[in-house]
Amino acid sequence: MTTVSEHVPKIVTSRIGLDQSYSIDTYLATGGYVALRKALTTMTPEAVASEVMTSNLLGRGGAGFEVGRKWSMLKNSPVRYLVVNGDESEPATFKDHMLIEGDPHQIVEGTIITAYAVGASRAFIFIRGEFALGLERVQAAINEAYRYGALGQNIFGSGFSLDLVLHPGAGAYICGEETSLIESLEGKRGYPRIKPPFFPAVIGLYGAPTIVNNVESMSNIPWIVNNGGAAFASLGVGRSTGTRIFALAGHVNRPGNYEVEMAKMTFRDLVDSPQYGGGMRLGRSVKAFIPGGVSAPWFGPEGLDIPLSQDDVAKAGSMLGSGSIVMMDDHTCMVRAAWRITKFFNRESCGQCTPCREGSGWIEKMMRRIENGGGREADLDLLLDACDNIAPGLSWPPAQTTICVLGPSIPSSVVAAIKMFRDEFLIHIKEGGCPYE
Ligand code: NAD
Ligand code: SF4
Repeated sequence: MTTVSEHVPKIVTSRIGLDQSYSIDTYLATGGYVALRKALTTMTPEAVASEVMTSNLLGRGGAGFEVGRKWSMLKNSPVRYLVVNGDESEPATFKDHMLIEGDPHQIVEGTIITAYAVGASRAFIFIRGEFALGLERVQAAINEAYRYGALGQNIFGSGFSLDLVLHPGAGAYICGEETSLIESLEGKRGYPRIKPPFFPAVIGLYGAPTIVNNVESMSNIPWIVNNGGAAFASLGVGRSTGTRIFALAGHVNRPGNYEVEMAKMTFRDLVDSPQYGGGMRLGRSVKAFIPGGVSAPWFGPEGLDIPLSQDDVAKAGSMLGSGSIVMMDDHTCMVRAAWRITKFFNRESCGQCTPCREGSGWIEKMMRRIENGGGREADLDLLLDACDNIAPGLSWPPAQTTICVLGPSIPSSVVAAIKMFRDEFLIHIKEGGCPYE
């Protein structure tokens, strides 16, 4: 498989690591707000949207829905909103966090351009409350953008006006789900709404049509406007265009955020290349890995040769999701790994749907019992049965019996662990506890 190309531009991370990368002075000195000026003074909103459609930028929050297509689905209405989702909470996902702290003006510029393209009358950036420094920096960037004339009335004399409001989250994972985020923005408890039939593009914030886009998606917009959608689409392979940040975590020598061209490298390239993962820690071998956030089914070592492409990973039975990759070496207890993920989902379930609320609790308790030596062989079938009640059929993508996708995400790790490492569960049961202790 191809490895690293010297000629691949850094589209969203070019300023990360620069001195004061978050200030407007650095931003302006490195080409900041040029795309906004170009969009507002030389392009129609439709022309901007058309470039984004041509780019085939896939949403970077996790679902990978085409950004341009989503914009085209926004219902016509005198009031429309744009909401930027910076509530990144998926365990092991830390790419938006870096962009929020390191290049807030790029997010602000992408947001203003998007608001222009979709005809939004007001925009909101919703950022995870724990990102205290990020909140400070985004607010400072918004204030600087107002002073510079990039926000407010008649931006750059174009006739386009926009107000941008920053809103802190309150620490609930579920508020990263777009409809729950909208509820939270409205001042209510963060309960997801049923979709379909009504996606936010039809009925969203305060009942008005709303586009919800992820922070990394927004960060790509200035580059697309400056260079054209075709230039973006010329990077990558097939539907996986452009570059993407992968948050590499777990048992590698160099965990971190790496922006690479989509689909040109395999997971193995990313893990082993000296400039990226630098190989597995202590020279150990890969036992399994999670290719795209903890909602995703696991791969064994044979999955390392799959390209970092949305469709290839989906074809192999998992997803690139939020772009986080969790590597687990041969010293990892797979029962414990799956238990900890279930524990997380159990704590974060909002409780509206019975299969998710009750199922996550039962599964967590059974997994805890097995890990701590009190398990029975019959528990394995019981676990699979409980998982089947949350996501019937245990297939991928999962069937949904719940309001949002958090519920059907719960079985992924448990089912993968039992299918791939049944022997390890049996050792726990027969030996009365974890052999890795
Ligand atoms: P989804 O597939 O329901 O929707 C994706 C986007 O497309 C949404 O904005 C949705 O409104 C829009 N959309 C889909 N069909 C549409 C239609 N017919 N008309 C208009 N708009 C439409 O997925 P989702 O629930 O938004 O996201 C799930 C993913 O989020 C998971 O797969 C996971 O990877 C990811 N996730 C990310 C994090 C994180 O921290 N980044 C955390 C948890 C989950
Ligand atoms: Fe809440 Fe879980 Fe239902 Fe989602 S699936 S709405 S998190 S109970």
